[in-house]
Amino acid sequence: MSELKVLVVGAGLGGLTLAQSLRGHGIDVAVFERDAGPWDRPQGYRLHLDADAINAAREVLPAQLYAVFEATAQYTEPFTTILGTDLSVLKRLPARDDHGQVWPAHDGPAVHANVDRATLRQILLAGLEDAVQFGKTVQRYENTADGVTAYFTDGSTAHGDVLAGADGIRSAVRRHRAPRCETVDAGITAIYGRLPMAVAEPLVPAETLTDVFTIASDERKVFLGLGSVRFPTSPAQAAQRFAPGTSMSDQDDYVVTIVGGRHEFFPATAAGMRTLPAEQLRGIAAGLLQNWPGGAAEVVGNADAASFFLVEMYTSVPATLDAPTRVTLLGDAIHAMTPTLGRGANVAMRDGALLGRALKEVVDGGLPLAAALAGYEREMTAYGFSVVRQAARIGRQRMAQNALPE
Ligand SMILES: Cc1cc2nc3c(=O)[nH]c(=O)nc-3n(C[C@H](O)[C@H](O)[C@H](O)COP(=O)(O)OP(=O)(O)OC[C@H]3O[C@@H](n4cnc5c(N)ncnc54)[C@H](O)[C@@H]3O)c2cc1C
Repeated sequence: MSELKVLVVGAGLGGLTLAQSLRGHGIDVAVFERDAGPWDRPQGYRLHLDADAINAAREVLPAQLYAVFEATAQYTEPFTTILGTDLSVLKRLPARDDHGQVWPAHDGPAVHANVDRATLRQILLAGLEDAVQFGKTVQRYENTADGVTAYFTDGSTAHGDVLAGADGIRSAVRRHRAPRCETVDAGITAIYGRLPMAVAEPLVPAETLTDVFTIASDERKVFLGLGSVRFPTSPAQAAQRFAPGTSMSDQDDYVVTIVGGRHEFFPATAAGMRTLPAEQLRGIAAGLLQNWPGGAAEVVGNADAASFFLVEMYTSVPATLDAPTRVTLLGDAIHAMTPTLGRGANVAMRDGALLGRALKEVVDGGLPLAAALAGYEREMTAYGFSVVRQAARIGRQRMAQNALPE
């Protein structure tokens, strides 16, 4: 292990990508996670990954864990498909990479994958059991003469050379590190649920099972999104084959449903719906589609009653950061966005890999810490805020998301 000790706040996808990178580079890392355990609260089901996340996973994971990732990812046809409210296919829009490049369906690198979030998190947690502490909420930090100290709500502290705030959209670290960087309500409420594949197959268009995502919306811009997760190899089998000794819980194939729109179309405020039982959320979601012709409401009505949860959408407002010393940010903690483009986790994982590489340069003696963090933040805020702006623009077109404040 090197002399550098890195404290990571938050064991989400970004923080764990950073931790895997640091572990791979032989840098001492401790991760502090507020949740009592990895599966403490609903965190979503399907995730669309593109080249950013796939490259980051390949870079930071040990080969055997990357093999589990590959074996459990559903590489999709590179299209986001627009449906009518009767769920007929209107057009298949080519999914593009970060540089606007369209990848052909069966030629060149497969850069779009649908993965199961819990499976991905398990892969990213594997091998870090000794580094991740659950039930540790960071309240604040202090720069000291010889490093940085994190203060936890349980009264304990931890000391390191660098602190990375990967603590998500309501980041406590951001409040101190970048107080001018705000997050604002995007104006959109959504309800998520999922259907077992066998139930979904006869109800959804064939493109839902092959493409990145399928989405329909009405004149109110109330929308129904559908996306599949079909495991080429089950997570437990993949672990057994490629990473024996890694425990992975099995999941069945499924289709995720998301029904969303502006707050005013929902029968209650988010605060009023937060405590509703999952089954009632399903009823609200299906009710929003009741006037659609065809089977949209039926798709939602056939989803697992217990699978539903509420998502309140917020977005970061792009801003400049003060020069770093020992504390930096990554992922949703600095550039949260609405899920319109399915890119937030991709950018968070790209950040984790990039920051890990920057800290490796410090350990190798090539760069002073402040310069390494400044270089990381320059690059990360440039691509991160650019995706935030793009997500807000497309979110405005597709679901009447609030415009970003000037
Ligand atoms: C419904 C939905 C669907 C989405 N779909 C996609 C998609 O298809 N593709 C995509 O790329 N992105 C998608 N996203 C966005 C993606 O989920 C996020 O961008 C991504 O999870 C951000 O990762 P992160 O590590 O920065 O933050 P998080 O995953 O939010 O992790 C932050 C962690 O920090 C912990 N934490 C918070 N505060 C503290 C504290 N004070 N002390 C210690 N720990 C703390 C939290 O408990 C959490 O575990 C979606 C988002 C939602 C809500």
